[in-house]
Amino acid sequence: MTDVIDGDAVAADVRDGLAGAIRTLDDAGVTPTLATVLMSDDPASETYVSMKQQDCAEVGIEARDVELDPEAPAEELFETVADLNADPSVNGILVQMPVPDHVEDRDVIRTIDPAKDVDGFHPENVGRLVAGDPVFKPCTPHGVLKLLDAAGVETEGADVTIVGRSNIVGKPLANLLIGKADDGNATVTVCHSRTENLPEKTRRADVVIAAAGVPELVDGSMLTDGTVVIDVGVNRVERDGESTLVGDVDFESAKSKARAITPVPGGVGPMTRAMLLYNTVKATSRQAEVPVDL
Ligand code: NDP
Repeated sequence: MTDVIDGDAVAADVRDGLAGAIRTLDDAGVTPTLATVLMSDDPASETYVSMKQQDCAEVGIEARDVELDPEAPAEELFETVADLNADPSVNGILVQMPVPDHVEDRDVIRTIDPAKDVDGFHPENVGRLVAGDPVFKPCTPHGVLKLLDAAGVETEGADVTIVGRSNIVGKPLANLLIGKADDGNATVTVCHSRTENLPEKTRRADVVIAAAGVPELVDGSMLTDGTVVIDVGVNRVERDGESTLVGDVDFESAKSKARAITPVPGGVGPMTRAMLLYNTVKATSRQAEVPVDL
């Protein structure tokens, strides 16, 4: 019997686990505050930002909503971030990606104060993660580790194949999984678009994590019986004349082989959102110097 890992339920547990920390901060007169910066009129980005603000409101984090004209010069975004860096009432800053083409992602990420970088993308935070001393684990990789833990998957000594090497998912996940922390100690293979014989790499894994952005790339024929499958992908496709969301895993064929598998939606997505709240609470605790249980 395959365990379909319920990301909504695990994310709800993460949010419940933050309640005590938020109360401790509240008792010290501190309200965790996340500033979201949107410089886009892409409906998907607008939806992501409004979901993040809703999540904040539900757990008692204040969300500050900053919107910029997508046509504005890059300097306006950098100045906005600099103001938020300097504002002591703002604990976390999230600039919704992608930003318009005339703004370099990399420059935006470097402008954010590492202490408020709740995405964990600033080079200082990336460096600390690679060195095995992370402050903010990026939300999606951190969410994947929590899902593995919730499903009772032991990473120590496991062979893990990650499909995808992006800076926001594949690379940080690989670094966390090879780390010496309790949720690491795995042997990791990282695959990408130039990888030869991908099925051979997925078939030899105990855990396959698909983060390629290719609809249903990994199917049951690429898995060995008993594999744990984590599907990070979110792809909008047309099926029978209707627009629908699918992952990077062909769910039905993979489920027939997997010991445990995440669905799309309802798997990794809710965890990414929950870990953003976690990082915001952590950032607040560090800035206010109020220790909390996380
Ligand atoms: P990127 O496009 O940045 O990276 C995709 C990676 O997959 C690249 O390393 C690419 O290789 C690799 N790849 C692409 N095609 C293949 C292939 N055929 N075989 C093997 N590897 C391949 O994507 P992201 O990491 O940002 O996102 C990946 C997916 O996860 C997307 O569907 C995205 O929507 C989703 N996502 C979901 C989140 C959630 O919360 N659920 C959060 C973030 C992302 P190369 O480097 O050679 O180009």
